[in-house]
Amino acid sequence: MHALYLDWMKENHPNEQKIASYRQYCDVFNSEYNISFFVHKKDLCDECVKYENSSVEEKLRTQQEYDAHRKNKDLAQVMKEADKAVARKKTSTELVVACFDYEKSLICPKSNASIFYYRRKLGVSNFTIVDVGRNEDSCYVYYDESIARKGSNDVGSFLQHFIERKVEAGAKEFRFYSDNCGGHNKNRGVVASFLHAAAKNDVVIRHRFLEKGHTYNSADNVHSLIERKSKPLTIYTPDQWYDVIANAKRSVSDPIKVFNVDQSMVFDWKDLSDKLNLVKDNNGNAVPWTKLRETFVDGRSPHTLKYKINLDDPEVTVSTRKVGRPVNLKDFEPKKVYDKPLSITKLKYQDLVYYCDHNFIPPEHQAFYRSLAQATEVTGKEVGEADEPEPVAGRARRLKPRRATSSGGRKTKRPKRTPPNVEEESDSDLSLFD
Ligand SMILES: [Zn+2]
Repeated sequence: MHALYLDWMKENHPNEQKIASYRQYCDVFNSEYNISFFVHKKDLCDECVKYENSSVEEKLRTQQEYDAHRKNKDLAQVMKEADKAVARKKTSTELVVACFDYEKSLICPKSNASIFYYRRKLGVSNFTIVDVGRNEDSCYVYYDESIARKGSNDVGSFLQHFIERKVEAGAKEFRFYSDNCGGHNKNRGVVASFLHAAAKNDVVIRHRFLEKGHTYNSADNVHSLIERKSKPLTIYTPDQWYDVIANAKRSVSDPIKVFNVDQSMVFDWKDLSDKLNLVKDNNGNAVPWTKLRETFVDGRSPHTLKYKINLDDPEVTVSTRKVGRPVNLKDFEPKKVYDKPLSITKLKYQDLVYYCDHNFIPPEHQAFYRSLAQATEVTGKEVGEADEPEPVAGRARRLKPRRATSSGGRKTKRPKRTPPNVEEESDSDLSLFD
């Protein structure tokens, strides 16, 4: 800070004789301003804490592994910050640097009233993509148990939607950063969606994975804002969640873009990945999916995937064209994943209807819950289903019921009362390759 101050003084007051010393600067900073440096909770990484607390012998034994962890963490952060700096200069409209992540599941209804502690609620998903150069946040929001799930098809589709929006505005090159979640981000489905997007739009896409334990990124900042904004509110419907998310930013002129996800937006990238070779690289070695730290695709060479295991390694090439009937990536038309509303579990449906029957959910919102499709049978999974932790008590403010403003997204179709018996899938069920 003091060094920055010296630079600033040199630039703005080159003839000023009275320049504060480090000591004076510290005194003023600490005593006259009510500010401090924010330390992210997520900076406390398990690996780092474990190493710090281990004995000298243990440290010696794990030193190599720990050094690699720190190196990868630093490399990824340096690359992310460098990319952000380039993107923020806005010298090019062609480069998009973006971070993405799912927010931890939101619930609906959300209230601090005690009746809502003990019964099941509807899950609401929010997948956030932050264009860090343009400071633009896009949230893809849906009530996940009825509209879509949280797997590679869903993530690949939201990224595809984002890429196409940016291509319309002139983007040619994408650099994405995310965590390593195999079910969401690091999998063949997402790579298949990138291969298609690159070929179709003639763009290049680089995706880097932040080091485990040090994955805090701009999407998490957006999630903190949403959490803070929604904390005192009572929220009865997903529509109200869309409004809260759209208005979570302090700047009124720069609201979060909320895309109200419907099933027509979600495509089957797993199906495309099955039509490609994403198993063996050109040296005949298996692609080590869990270890990847970077993937790269280029529309000018549509059937080539390049990957790295360490960010400073040379790239390894994978020819994705399958022998026999190679798929045309550019013209490929992905199938829709969902053709009818998904069903929520029978017990969850009963709990939601209980809230309605007892007017814990106001009458004007009850039709939505009653119209949700429910599974026809109680599944084994429901029996031990845990409730959400108790929220912190506090004064609740009720939202005015109104429809969400969707900035460019499509309106969610309410699910019809058809009972397809689709099994629920939680995050933990997602395999690496789904
Ligand atoms: Zn660490």
